Amino acid sequence: MSVEEFLQTYANHPVYFPPRGPKLHAKNWPAEAALRMFLNNLSQDVAEDPERLVVYGGIGQAARTPQDACKIIELLLTLEEDESLLIQSGKPVGKIRSHAEAPRVLIANSNLVPHWATWQHFNELRERGLMMYGQMTAGSWIYIGTQGILQGTYETFAACARQHFNGDLRHKLIVSGGLGGMGGAQPLAATMTGATFLGVDVDPERIKKRQESGYIDTMTYDYHHAMRLVLAAQHKGEAVSIGLVGNIGDVLEKLVQDGITPDILTDQTSAHDPINGYVPHGMCLPQALDLRRNNPEYYRELSLQSMARHVGYMLELQRRGSCTFDYGNNLREFALQGGEQNAFQIPGFVPEFIRPLFCEGKGPFRWVALSGDPEDIRVTDEALKKLFPKNKQMISWLEQAKVKVPFQGLPSRICWLGMDEREKAGLLFNQLVREGKVKGPIVIGRDHLDCGSVASPYRETEGMKDGSDAVSDWPLLNLMANTSGGATWVSFHHGGGVGIGYSQHAGMVILADGTERADRCLRRVLYNDPALGIYRHADAGYESAQKNAHKFNLNS
Ligand code: NAD
Repeated sequence: MSVEEFLQTYANHPVYFPPRGPKLHAKNWPAEAALRMFLNNLSQDVAEDPERLVVYGGIGQAARTPQDACKIIELLLTLEEDESLLIQSGKPVGKIRSHAEAPRVLIANSNLVPHWATWQHFNELRERGLMMYGQMTAGSWIYIGTQGILQGTYETFAACARQHFNGDLRHKLIVSGGLGGMGGAQPLAATMTGATFLGVDVDPERIKKRQESGYIDTMTYDYHHAMRLVLAAQHKGEAVSIGLVGNIGDVLEKLVQDGITPDILTDQTSAHDPINGYVPHGMCLPQALDLRRNNPEYYRELSLQSMARHVGYMLELQRRGSCTFDYGNNLREFALQGGEQNAFQIPGFVPEFIRPLFCEGKGPFRWVALSGDPEDIRVTDEALKKLFPKNKQMISWLEQAKVKVPFQGLPSRICWLGMDEREKAGLLFNQLVREGKVKGPIVIGRDHLDCGSVASPYRETEGMKDGSDAVSDWPLLNLMANTSGGATWVSFHHGGGVGIGYSQHAGMVILADGTERADRCLRRVLYNDPALGIYRHADAGYESAQKNAHKFNLNS
Protein backbone atom coordinates (compact mmCIF):
# COMPACT_ATOMS: atom_id res chain seq x y z
CA MET A 1 0.00 0.00 0.00
CA SER A 2 1.45 3.40 -0.94
CA VAL A 3 1.69 6.23 1.61
CA GLU A 4 -1.17 8.02 -0.19
CA GLU A 5 -3.38 4.92 -0.06
CA PHE A 6 -2.54 4.42 3.61
CA LEU A 7 -3.46 8.02 4.42
CA GLN A 8 -6.72 7.76 2.50
CA THR A 9 -7.66 4.55 4.28
CA TYR A 10 -6.59 5.26 7.86
CA ALA A 11 -6.13 9.00 8.20
CA ASN A 12 -8.72 10.87 6.19
CA HIS A 13 -9.06 13.81 8.59
CA PRO A 14 -11.06 13.79 10.87
CA VAL A 15 -11.63 10.05 10.48
CA TYR A 16 -8.64 8.20 11.88
CA PHE A 17 -8.35 4.57 12.86
CA PRO A 18 -5.50 2.12 13.32
CA PRO A 19 -4.81 -0.88 11.11
CA ARG A 20 -5.49 -4.19 12.85
CA GLY A 21 -4.21 -7.70 12.20
CA PRO A 22 -0.79 -9.22 11.53
CA LYS A 23 0.16 -7.27 8.39
CA LEU A 24 2.98 -4.79 8.77
CA HIS A 25 2.56 -1.38 7.08
CA ALA A 26 5.71 0.24 8.49
CA LYS A 27 9.16 -1.28 8.00
CA ASN A 28 9.35 -2.85 11.47
CA TRP A 29 7.05 -3.58 14.42
CA PRO A 30 8.38 -0.83 16.72
CA ALA A 31 7.49 1.83 14.11
CA GLU A 32 4.21 0.05 13.32
CA ALA A 33 3.37 0.06 17.04
CA ALA A 34 3.88 3.83 17.28
CA LEU A 35 1.85 4.29 14.08
CA ARG A 36 -1.09 2.19 15.32
CA MET A 37 -1.12 3.87 18.73
CA PHE A 38 -0.95 7.34 17.19
CA LEU A 39 -3.96 6.52 14.99
CA ASN A 40 -5.73 4.84 17.90
CA ASN A 41 -5.33 8.00 20.02
CA LEU A 42 -7.07 9.99 17.30
CA SER A 43 -9.77 7.51 16.38
CA GLN A 44 -13.45 8.38 16.77
CA ASP A 45 -13.94 5.71 19.45
CA VAL A 46 -11.12 7.06 21.58
CA ALA A 47 -10.53 10.80 21.07
CA GLU A 48 -12.92 13.37 22.53
CA ASP A 49 -12.71 15.62 19.42
CA PRO A 50 -10.79 14.17 16.43
CA GLU A 51 -11.72 17.19 14.27
CA ARG A 52 -9.43 19.35 16.46
CA LEU A 53 -7.01 16.43 17.08
CA VAL A 54 -8.02 16.68 20.75
CA VAL A 55 -7.71 13.38 22.56
CA TYR A 56 -8.74 14.34 26.12
CA GLY A 57 -8.01 16.69 29.02
CA GLY A 58 -9.14 20.07 27.67
CA ILE A 59 -7.00 20.65 24.56
CA GLY A 60 -4.66 17.65 24.92
CA GLN A 61 -3.67 16.81 21.32
CA ALA A 62 -1.85 13.96 19.58
CA ALA A 63 -0.49 16.12 16.73
CA ARG A 64 -0.28 19.87 16.18
CA THR A 65 -2.17 20.11 12.86
CA PRO A 66 -3.77 17.67 10.40
CA GLN A 67 -0.76 18.28 8.11
CA ASP A 68 1.60 17.31 10.94
CA ALA A 69 -0.51 14.21 11.57
CA CYS A 70 -0.03 13.17 7.90
CA LYS A 71 3.69 13.87 8.06
CA ILE A 72 4.06 11.82 11.28
CA ILE A 73 2.29 8.91 9.61
CA GLU A 74 4.43 9.20 6.47
CA LEU A 75 7.65 9.24 8.50
CA LEU A 76 6.61 6.32 10.69
CA LEU A 77 5.77 4.28 7.58
CA THR A 78 9.30 4.71 6.29
CA LEU A 79 11.28 4.73 9.54
CA GLU A 80 14.24 2.31 9.60
CA GLU A 81 15.35 0.27 12.63
CA ASP A 82 18.40 2.46 13.10
CA GLU A 83 16.51 5.77 13.00
CA SER A 84 14.52 7.71 15.58
CA LEU A 85 11.86 10.28 14.80
CA LEU A 86 11.85 13.60 16.68
CA ILE A 87 8.49 15.17 17.58
CA GLN A 88 8.42 18.74 18.91
CA SER A 89 5.00 19.65 20.35
CA GLY A 90 3.08 17.51 17.91
CA LYS A 91 5.18 18.33 14.83
CA PRO A 92 7.73 15.96 13.29
CA VAL A 93 10.97 17.90 12.98
CA GLY A 94 13.56 15.36 11.87
CA LYS A 95 15.07 11.91 12.14
CA ILE A 96 18.30 11.00 13.90
CA ARG A 97 20.63 8.05 13.59
CA SER A 98 20.23 5.55 16.43
CA HIS A 99 20.10 1.76 16.77
CA ALA A 100 17.62 -1.10 17.04
CA GLU A 101 17.35 -0.99 20.84
CA ALA A 102 16.93 2.78 21.03
CA PRO A 103 13.49 4.44 21.12
CA ARG A 104 11.96 4.77 17.64
CA VAL A 105 10.30 8.05 18.59
CA LEU A 106 11.52 10.84 20.90
CA ILE A 107 8.76 13.26 21.89
CA ALA A 108 8.90 16.64 23.66
CA ASN A 109 5.60 18.45 24.20
CA SER A 110 4.68 21.88 25.58
CA ASN A 111 8.02 22.48 27.32
CA LEU A 112 8.89 26.10 28.13
CA VAL A 113 11.76 27.69 30.02
CA PRO A 114 10.35 28.14 33.57
CA HIS A 115 10.21 31.96 33.55
CA TRP A 116 7.98 31.85 30.44
CA ALA A 117 5.95 28.84 31.52
CA THR A 118 2.54 30.51 31.75
CA TRP A 119 -0.75 29.78 29.99
CA GLN A 120 -0.61 33.27 28.50
CA HIS A 121 2.77 32.75 26.82
CA PHE A 122 1.89 29.21 25.82
CA ASN A 123 -1.39 30.35 24.24
CA GLU A 124 0.43 33.07 22.28
CA LEU A 125 2.81 30.45 20.89
CA ARG A 126 -0.07 28.07 20.23
CA GLU A 127 -1.95 30.79 18.33
CA ARG A 128 1.15 31.26 16.17
CA GLY A 129 1.29 27.52 15.45
CA LEU A 130 4.51 26.97 17.40
CA MET A 131 3.26 24.68 20.15
CA MET A 132 0.66 22.14 21.13
CA TYR A 133 -0.64 21.04 24.52
CA GLY A 134 0.23 17.35 24.92
CA GLN A 135 -1.54 16.69 28.27
CA MET A 136 -0.10 13.38 29.45
CA THR A 137 -0.99 10.41 27.24
CA ALA A 138 -2.53 12.45 24.36
CA GLY A 139 0.74 13.76 22.97
CA SER A 140 2.62 10.60 23.89
CA TRP A 141 0.26 8.27 22.03
CA ILE A 142 -0.72 5.89 24.81
CA TYR A 143 -4.21 7.12 25.67
CA ILE A 144 -6.58 4.15 25.78
CA GLY A 145 -9.88 5.93 26.36
CA THR A 146 -11.64 6.35 29.65
CA GLN A 147 -10.47 2.94 30.89
CA GLY A 148 -7.00 4.49 31.26
CA ILE A 149 -7.99 6.23 34.45
CA LEU A 150 -10.72 3.81 35.51
CA GLN A 151 -8.70 1.65 37.84
CA GLY A 152 -6.95 4.69 39.35
CA THR A 153 -10.35 6.23 40.05
CA TYR A 154 -11.61 2.92 41.42
CA GLU A 155 -8.52 2.62 43.67
CA THR A 156 -9.08 6.19 44.88
CA PHE A 157 -12.75 5.64 45.76
CA ALA A 158 -11.86 2.29 47.36
CA ALA A 159 -9.09 3.90 49.46
CA CYS A 160 -11.53 6.64 50.47
CA ALA A 161 -14.04 3.94 51.45
CA ARG A 162 -11.42 2.16 53.59
CA GLN A 163 -10.34 5.37 55.31
CA HIS A 164 -13.75 6.92 55.91
CA PHE A 165 -16.59 4.43 55.39
CA ASN A 166 -15.41 1.07 56.79
CA GLY A 167 -14.68 -0.09 53.26
CA ASP A 168 -18.33 0.02 52.19
CA LEU A 169 -19.78 2.60 49.79
CA ARG A 170 -23.29 1.16 49.55
CA HIS A 171 -25.86 3.84 50.50
CA LYS A 172 -23.17 6.46 49.90
CA LEU A 173 -23.49 9.29 47.38
CA ILE A 174 -20.53 10.53 45.33
CA VAL A 175 -20.91 13.86 43.51
CA SER A 176 -18.46 15.23 40.95
CA GLY A 177 -18.23 17.64 38.03
CA GLY A 178 -16.83 16.85 34.58
CA LEU A 179 -17.64 13.73 32.54
CA GLY A 180 -15.03 14.14 29.81
CA GLY A 181 -12.29 11.77 28.66
CA MET A 182 -10.94 11.08 32.14
CA GLY A 183 -13.73 12.39 34.36
CA GLY A 184 -16.05 9.99 32.51
CA ALA A 185 -14.42 7.11 34.40
CA GLN A 186 -15.92 8.34 37.68
CA PRO A 187 -19.47 6.96 37.26
CA LEU A 188 -18.30 3.44 36.42
CA ALA A 189 -15.56 3.45 39.09
CA ALA A 190 -18.13 4.66 41.63
CA THR A 191 -20.69 1.97 40.81
CA MET A 192 -17.94 -0.68 40.78
CA THR A 193 -17.29 0.25 44.42
CA GLY A 194 -21.03 0.02 45.21
CA ALA A 195 -21.78 3.76 45.51
CA THR A 196 -24.54 5.91 44.00
CA PHE A 197 -23.09 8.57 41.69
CA LEU A 198 -24.19 11.99 40.44
CA GLY A 199 -21.98 13.54 37.75
CA VAL A 200 -22.55 17.01 36.30
CA ASP A 201 -21.33 18.21 32.90
CA VAL A 202 -22.25 21.33 30.91
CA ASP A 203 -21.89 19.48 27.64
CA PRO A 204 -24.66 16.92 26.95
CA GLU A 205 -22.57 15.36 24.17
CA ARG A 206 -19.97 14.30 26.72
CA ILE A 207 -22.57 12.57 28.89
CA LYS A 208 -24.08 10.88 25.81
CA LYS A 209 -20.62 9.56 24.90
CA ARG A 210 -20.25 8.05 28.38
CA GLN A 211 -23.70 6.51 28.14
CA GLU A 212 -22.96 5.01 24.72
CA SER A 213 -19.70 3.50 25.96
CA GLY A 214 -21.40 2.00 29.02
CA TYR A 215 -19.74 4.20 31.63
CA ILE A 216 -22.89 5.95 32.90
CA ASP A 217 -26.41 4.62 33.39
CA THR A 218 -28.81 7.55 32.98
CA MET A 219 -28.74 11.08 31.62
CA THR A 220 -31.08 13.95 32.47
CA TYR A 221 -31.32 17.72 31.97
CA ASP A 222 -33.51 18.21 35.05
CA TYR A 223 -31.96 18.77 38.50
CA HIS A 224 -35.11 17.64 40.37
CA HIS A 225 -35.42 14.50 38.27
CA ALA A 226 -31.73 13.72 38.86
CA MET A 227 -32.08 14.20 42.61
CA ARG A 228 -35.17 11.99 42.82
CA LEU A 229 -33.29 9.19 41.04
CA VAL A 230 -30.10 9.69 43.04
CA LEU A 231 -31.69 9.89 46.49
CA ALA A 232 -33.95 6.88 45.84
CA ALA A 233 -30.95 4.83 44.65
CA GLN A 234 -28.86 5.92 47.62
CA HIS A 235 -31.67 4.98 49.99
CA LYS A 236 -31.97 1.51 48.45
CA GLY A 237 -28.20 1.07 48.30
CA GLU A 238 -28.23 0.79 44.51
CA ALA A 239 -24.99 1.29 42.61
CA VAL A 240 -26.28 3.48 39.80
CA SER A 241 -24.88 6.54 38.06
CA ILE A 242 -26.73 9.60 36.84
CA GLY A 243 -25.33 12.27 34.50
CA LEU A 244 -26.93 15.69 34.90
CA VAL A 245 -26.47 18.38 32.25
CA GLY A 246 -25.55 21.58 34.05
CA ASN A 247 -22.83 23.70 35.55
CA ILE A 248 -21.29 21.98 38.57
CA GLY A 249 -21.04 25.27 40.51
CA ASP A 250 -24.79 25.84 40.08
CA VAL A 251 -25.65 22.26 41.05
CA LEU A 252 -23.53 22.45 44.23
CA GLU A 253 -25.31 25.71 45.12
CA LYS A 254 -28.65 23.87 44.85
CA LEU A 255 -27.37 20.96 46.96
CA VAL A 256 -26.33 23.42 49.66
CA GLN A 257 -29.74 25.16 49.50
CA ASP A 258 -31.60 21.83 49.58
CA GLY A 259 -29.55 20.53 52.51
CA ILE A 260 -28.22 17.55 50.54
CA THR A 261 -24.68 16.63 51.61
CA PRO A 262 -22.86 14.11 49.41
CA ASP A 263 -20.75 11.53 51.26
CA ILE A 264 -17.88 12.06 48.82
CA LEU A 265 -17.32 15.20 46.78
CA THR A 266 -14.69 15.89 44.13
CA ASP A 267 -14.31 17.40 40.65
CA GLN A 268 -12.87 16.57 37.26
CA THR A 269 -13.83 19.50 35.09
CA SER A 270 -10.88 20.70 32.97
CA ALA A 271 -10.13 23.39 35.55
CA HIS A 272 -6.41 23.14 34.75
CA ASP A 273 -7.12 25.30 31.69
CA PRO A 274 -9.25 28.34 32.67
CA ILE A 275 -9.76 29.39 29.04
CA ASN A 276 -10.10 26.24 26.98
CA GLY A 277 -11.17 23.82 29.70
CA TYR A 278 -13.47 25.21 32.38
CA VAL A 279 -16.90 26.70 31.63
CA PRO A 280 -17.89 29.65 33.88
CA HIS A 281 -21.37 29.66 35.40
CA GLY A 282 -24.17 31.92 34.24
CA MET A 283 -23.85 31.12 30.53
CA CYS A 284 -24.85 28.26 28.27
CA LEU A 285 -22.24 26.27 26.39
CA PRO A 286 -22.59 28.00 22.97
CA GLN A 287 -22.27 31.41 24.70
CA ALA A 288 -19.17 30.18 26.51
CA LEU A 289 -17.62 28.92 23.26
CA ASP A 290 -18.27 32.30 21.62
CA LEU A 291 -16.75 34.25 24.48
CA ARG A 292 -13.73 31.92 24.57
CA ARG A 293 -13.00 32.84 20.95
CA ASN A 294 -13.86 36.53 21.09
CA ASN A 295 -12.61 37.68 24.47
CA PRO A 296 -10.35 35.07 26.08
CA GLU A 297 -9.04 37.43 28.77
CA TYR A 298 -12.52 38.29 30.02
CA TYR A 299 -13.43 34.58 29.78
CA ARG A 300 -10.43 33.77 31.99
CA GLU A 301 -11.57 36.28 34.63
CA LEU A 302 -15.07 34.78 34.65
CA SER A 303 -13.58 31.29 34.87
CA LEU A 304 -11.45 32.14 37.89
CA GLN A 305 -14.41 33.81 39.66
CA SER A 306 -16.60 30.78 38.91
CA MET A 307 -13.98 28.38 40.22
CA ALA A 308 -13.77 30.42 43.44
CA ARG A 309 -17.57 30.19 43.79
CA HIS A 310 -17.53 26.48 42.91
CA VAL A 311 -14.83 25.75 45.51
CA GLY A 312 -16.71 27.92 48.04
CA TYR A 313 -19.65 25.49 47.79
CA MET A 314 -17.27 22.52 48.01
CA LEU A 315 -15.86 23.98 51.24
CA GLU A 316 -19.37 24.49 52.62
CA LEU A 317 -20.26 20.86 51.84
CA GLN A 318 -16.93 19.78 53.37
CA ARG A 319 -17.91 21.66 56.58
CA ARG A 320 -21.25 19.83 56.50
CA GLY A 321 -19.48 16.47 56.39
CA SER A 322 -18.67 15.61 52.76
CA CYS A 323 -15.37 13.81 52.37
CA THR A 324 -14.00 16.31 49.85
CA PHE A 325 -10.81 16.04 47.82
CA ASP A 326 -9.13 17.67 44.83
CA TYR A 327 -8.90 15.25 41.93
CA GLY A 328 -5.85 16.45 40.10
CA ASN A 329 -7.21 19.28 37.94
CA ASN A 330 -5.65 22.28 39.75
CA LEU A 331 -9.09 23.61 40.68
CA ARG A 332 -7.82 24.83 44.08
CA GLU A 333 -5.06 27.03 42.64
CA PHE A 334 -7.34 28.76 40.13
CA ALA A 335 -10.07 29.15 42.78
CA LEU A 336 -7.44 30.82 44.98
CA GLN A 337 -6.53 33.14 42.10
CA GLY A 338 -10.27 33.84 41.73
CA GLY A 339 -10.49 34.91 45.39
CA GLU A 340 -11.29 31.78 47.45
CA GLN A 341 -8.62 32.08 50.15
CA ASN A 342 -9.43 28.70 51.74
CA ALA A 343 -9.22 26.63 48.56
CA PHE A 344 -6.26 24.60 49.82
CA GLN A 345 -8.25 23.41 52.84
CA ILE A 346 -9.41 20.75 50.40
CA PRO A 347 -6.79 17.98 50.40
CA GLY A 348 -5.29 16.53 47.20
CA PHE A 349 -6.05 12.91 46.26
CA VAL A 350 -2.42 11.77 45.92
CA PRO A 351 -1.25 12.41 49.50
CA GLU A 352 -4.66 11.25 50.75
CA PHE A 353 -4.98 7.97 48.85
CA ILE A 354 -2.31 7.17 46.24
CA ARG A 355 1.17 7.85 47.68
CA PRO A 356 1.43 4.55 49.59
CA LEU A 357 1.06 2.76 46.23
CA PHE A 358 3.77 4.98 44.67
CA CYS A 359 6.13 3.89 47.48
CA GLU A 360 5.77 0.30 46.18
CA GLY A 361 6.64 1.41 42.66
CA LYS A 362 2.96 0.87 41.78
CA GLY A 363 1.18 2.81 39.09
CA PRO A 364 -1.11 2.65 36.07
CA PHE A 365 0.51 -0.07 33.95
CA ARG A 366 -1.48 -0.62 30.73
CA TRP A 367 -1.26 -2.65 27.55
CA VAL A 368 -2.87 -2.74 24.13
CA ALA A 369 -3.42 -5.62 21.68
CA LEU A 370 -2.11 -4.35 18.33
CA SER A 371 -3.92 -7.23 16.58
CA GLY A 372 -7.18 -5.46 17.41
CA ASP A 373 -8.59 -8.78 18.68
CA PRO A 374 -10.33 -8.53 22.10
CA GLU A 375 -9.50 -12.21 22.65
CA ASP A 376 -5.83 -11.21 23.03
CA ILE A 377 -6.71 -9.14 26.10
CA ARG A 378 -8.64 -12.06 27.55
CA VAL A 379 -5.53 -14.22 27.07
CA THR A 380 -3.32 -11.64 28.82
CA ASP A 381 -5.85 -11.26 31.69
CA GLU A 382 -5.84 -15.02 32.27
CA ALA A 383 -2.06 -15.24 32.01
CA LEU A 384 -1.67 -12.48 34.62
CA LYS A 385 -4.04 -14.23 37.01
CA LYS A 386 -1.87 -17.35 36.74
CA LEU A 387 1.34 -15.34 37.11
CA PHE A 388 0.21 -13.58 40.30
CA PRO A 389 -2.25 -15.99 41.97
CA LYS A 390 -1.83 -14.33 45.36
CA ASN A 391 -2.66 -10.82 44.15
CA LYS A 392 -6.36 -10.99 45.06
CA GLN A 393 -6.98 -7.30 44.42
CA MET A 394 -5.57 -7.57 40.89
CA ILE A 395 -7.59 -10.71 40.19
CA SER A 396 -10.80 -9.10 41.42
CA TRP A 397 -10.06 -6.04 39.26
CA LEU A 398 -9.40 -8.12 36.13
CA GLU A 399 -12.59 -10.12 36.67
CA GLN A 400 -14.71 -7.02 37.10
CA ALA A 401 -13.01 -5.27 34.18
CA LYS A 402 -13.72 -8.23 31.89
CA VAL A 403 -17.45 -7.87 32.47
CA LYS A 404 -17.88 -4.16 33.03
CA VAL A 405 -15.26 -2.33 30.99
CA PRO A 406 -16.06 -1.76 27.33
CA PHE A 407 -13.09 -1.36 24.98
CA GLN A 408 -12.59 1.88 23.07
CA GLY A 409 -10.46 1.56 19.94
CA LEU A 410 -7.77 -1.12 20.05
CA PRO A 411 -8.53 -3.56 22.91
CA SER A 412 -6.57 -2.63 25.99
CA ARG A 413 -6.30 -3.15 29.70
CA ILE A 414 -5.23 -1.02 32.65
CA CYS A 415 -3.95 -2.69 35.81
CA TRP A 416 -1.93 -1.05 38.56
CA LEU A 417 1.25 -3.11 39.01
CA GLY A 418 4.41 -2.41 40.97
CA MET A 419 8.13 -3.12 41.07
CA ASP A 420 8.97 -6.65 39.94
CA GLU A 421 5.37 -7.30 38.80
CA ARG A 422 5.71 -5.02 35.77
CA GLU A 423 8.90 -6.71 34.55
CA LYS A 424 7.40 -10.19 35.01
CA ALA A 425 4.19 -9.16 33.23
CA GLY A 426 6.10 -7.62 30.31
CA LEU A 427 8.26 -10.70 29.80
CA LEU A 428 5.20 -12.93 30.00
CA PHE A 429 3.42 -10.89 27.33
CA ASN A 430 6.48 -11.13 25.09
CA GLN A 431 6.43 -14.89 25.52
CA LEU A 432 2.71 -15.02 24.62
CA VAL A 433 3.52 -13.14 21.41
CA ARG A 434 6.53 -15.37 20.63
CA GLU A 435 4.52 -18.54 21.15
CA GLY A 436 1.62 -17.29 19.03
CA LYS A 437 -0.81 -17.43 21.97
CA VAL A 438 -1.94 -13.92 21.06
CA LYS A 439 -2.52 -12.79 17.48
CA GLY A 440 -0.15 -9.86 17.40
CA PRO A 441 2.39 -7.79 19.33
CA ILE A 442 1.37 -5.99 22.51
CA VAL A 443 2.40 -2.49 23.53
CA ILE A 444 2.92 -1.73 27.18
CA GLY A 445 2.82 1.78 28.58
CA ARG A 446 1.58 3.86 31.44
CA ASP A 447 0.13 7.21 32.35
CA HIS A 448 2.61 9.97 33.20
CA LEU A 449 0.74 10.04 36.52
CA ASP A 450 3.05 7.40 37.94
CA CYS A 451 5.35 6.86 40.88
CA GLY A 452 8.65 8.16 39.50
CA SER A 453 7.82 10.08 36.37
CA VAL A 454 6.30 13.36 37.43
CA ALA A 455 6.89 16.54 39.37
CA SER A 456 3.54 18.23 40.06
CA PRO A 457 3.32 20.07 43.39
CA TYR A 458 -0.50 20.30 43.31
CA ARG A 459 -0.94 16.67 42.41
CA GLU A 460 1.50 13.73 42.29
CA THR A 461 4.18 15.41 44.41
CA GLU A 462 1.93 17.50 46.68
CA GLY A 463 3.17 17.68 50.27
CA MET A 464 6.26 15.47 49.84
CA LYS A 465 7.79 14.55 53.19
CA ASP A 466 11.03 16.44 52.55
CA GLY A 467 9.42 19.42 50.77
CA SER A 468 10.87 18.44 47.38
CA ASP A 469 7.48 18.85 45.64
CA ALA A 470 8.74 21.06 42.80
CA VAL A 471 12.01 19.26 42.06
CA SER A 472 11.77 18.10 38.45
CA ASP A 473 15.12 16.32 38.23
CA TRP A 474 13.12 13.14 38.87
CA PRO A 475 11.00 13.05 35.71
CA LEU A 476 14.11 13.97 33.72
CA LEU A 477 15.98 11.05 35.26
CA ASN A 478 12.98 8.88 34.46
CA LEU A 479 13.09 9.98 30.82
CA MET A 480 16.82 9.31 30.61
CA ALA A 481 16.50 5.92 32.32
CA ASN A 482 13.78 4.81 29.91
CA THR A 483 15.68 6.11 26.90
CA SER A 484 18.86 4.29 28.00
CA GLY A 485 16.84 1.17 28.75
CA GLY A 486 15.37 1.02 25.24
CA ALA A 487 11.71 1.96 25.52
CA THR A 488 10.05 1.99 22.09
CA TRP A 489 9.04 5.62 22.43
CA VAL A 490 9.62 8.15 25.19
CA SER A 491 8.25 11.59 25.90
CA PHE A 492 8.81 14.58 28.13
CA HIS A 493 5.92 16.99 28.69
CA HIS A 494 5.06 20.08 30.65
CA GLY A 495 1.72 21.12 32.11
CA GLY A 496 -0.18 17.82 32.05
CA GLY A 497 -3.04 17.36 34.51
CA VAL A 498 -2.72 20.72 36.23
CA GLY A 499 -1.83 23.09 33.38
CA ILE A 500 1.09 25.12 32.06
CA GLY A 501 3.58 26.12 34.74
CA TYR A 502 2.52 23.49 37.25
CA SER A 503 4.01 20.14 36.22
CA GLN A 504 6.72 18.30 34.27
CA HIS A 505 6.47 14.62 33.47
CA ALA A 506 7.82 11.76 31.39
CA GLY A 507 6.14 8.96 29.47
CA MET A 508 7.27 5.67 28.05
CA VAL A 509 5.85 2.92 25.87
CA ILE A 510 7.53 -0.39 25.13
CA LEU A 511 6.69 -3.06 22.60
CA ALA A 512 6.46 -6.79 23.23
CA ASP A 513 6.80 -8.26 19.73
CA GLY A 514 8.10 -11.66 20.77
CA THR A 515 11.72 -10.95 19.85
CA GLU A 516 14.85 -11.35 21.96
CA ARG A 517 15.49 -7.65 21.49
CA ALA A 518 12.14 -6.97 23.16
CA ASP A 519 13.06 -9.31 26.04
CA ARG A 520 16.24 -7.33 26.66
CA CYS A 521 14.50 -3.95 26.46
CA LEU A 522 11.56 -5.08 28.63
CA ARG A 523 13.92 -6.40 31.30
CA ARG A 524 15.64 -3.02 31.53
CA VAL A 525 12.74 -0.61 31.10
CA LEU A 526 10.18 -2.38 33.27
CA TYR A 527 12.78 -2.60 36.04
CA ASN A 528 14.08 0.97 35.74
CA ASP A 529 10.72 2.70 35.47
CA PRO A 530 9.14 1.56 38.78
CA ALA A 531 12.57 1.62 40.46
CA LEU A 532 12.66 5.37 39.81
CA GLY A 533 9.42 5.66 41.80
CA ILE A 534 10.92 3.82 44.76
CA TYR A 535 14.16 5.84 44.59
CA ARG A 536 12.19 9.09 44.44
CA HIS A 537 10.04 8.29 47.48
CA ALA A 538 12.85 6.65 49.47
CA ASP A 539 14.97 9.74 48.90
CA ALA A 540 12.11 11.93 50.14
CA GLY A 541 12.10 9.96 53.40
CA TYR A 542 9.14 7.60 53.00
CA GLU A 543 9.92 4.57 55.13
CA SER A 544 7.83 2.15 53.09
CA ALA A 545 9.75 3.15 49.94
CA GLN A 546 13.03 2.62 51.82
CA LYS A 547 11.83 -0.83 52.87
CA ASN A 548 10.85 -1.60 49.28
CA ALA A 549 14.26 -0.46 48.01
CA HIS A 550 15.74 -3.01 50.38
CA LYS A 551 13.18 -5.71 49.53
CA PHE A 552 13.87 -5.43 45.79
CA ASN A 553 17.64 -5.13 46.24
CA LEU A 554 17.75 -1.75 44.53
CA ASN A 555 21.22 -0.22 44.69
CA SER A 556 22.79 -3.57 45.49
P1 NAD B 1 -12.04 16.80 29.32
O1 NAD B 1 -11.65 18.15 28.83
O2 NAD B 1 -12.16 15.67 28.37
O3 NAD B 1 -13.41 16.93 30.13
C1 NAD B 1 -13.70 17.99 31.01
C2 NAD B 1 -15.22 18.10 31.11
O4 NAD B 1 -15.55 19.13 32.04
C3 NAD B 1 -15.89 18.46 29.79
O5 NAD B 1 -16.81 17.46 29.48
C4 NAD B 1 -16.55 19.80 30.07
O6 NAD B 1 -17.76 19.96 29.38
C5 NAD B 1 -16.75 19.76 31.56
N1 NAD B 1 -16.86 21.06 32.23
C6 NAD B 1 -16.03 22.14 32.11
N2 NAD B 1 -16.44 23.12 32.94
C7 NAD B 1 -17.54 22.65 33.58
C8 NAD B 1 -18.41 23.19 34.57
N3 NAD B 1 -18.21 24.40 35.09
N4 NAD B 1 -19.44 22.43 35.02
C9 NAD B 1 -19.65 21.19 34.53
N5 NAD B 1 -18.86 20.64 33.59
C10 NAD B 1 -17.82 21.36 33.13
O7 NAD B 1 -10.99 16.47 30.47
P2 NAD B 1 -10.66 15.07 31.20
O8 NAD B 1 -9.72 14.30 30.37
O9 NAD B 1 -11.92 14.44 31.64
O10 NAD B 1 -9.86 15.60 32.47
C11 NAD B 1 -10.53 16.39 33.44
C12 NAD B 1 -9.55 16.99 34.42
O11 NAD B 1 -9.00 15.98 35.24
C13 NAD B 1 -8.37 17.69 33.75
O12 NAD B 1 -8.05 18.84 34.48
C14 NAD B 1 -7.29 16.69 33.82
O13 NAD B 1 -6.03 17.27 33.79
C15 NAD B 1 -7.59 16.05 35.16
N6 NAD B 1 -7.10 14.67 35.24
C16 NAD B 1 -7.07 14.07 36.44
C17 NAD B 1 -6.62 12.76 36.54
C18 NAD B 1 -6.58 12.04 37.82
O14 NAD B 1 -6.03 10.98 37.93
N7 NAD B 1 -7.19 12.56 38.83
C19 NAD B 1 -6.20 12.09 35.42
C20 NAD B 1 -6.29 12.71 34.21
C21 NAD B 1 -6.76 13.98 34.13
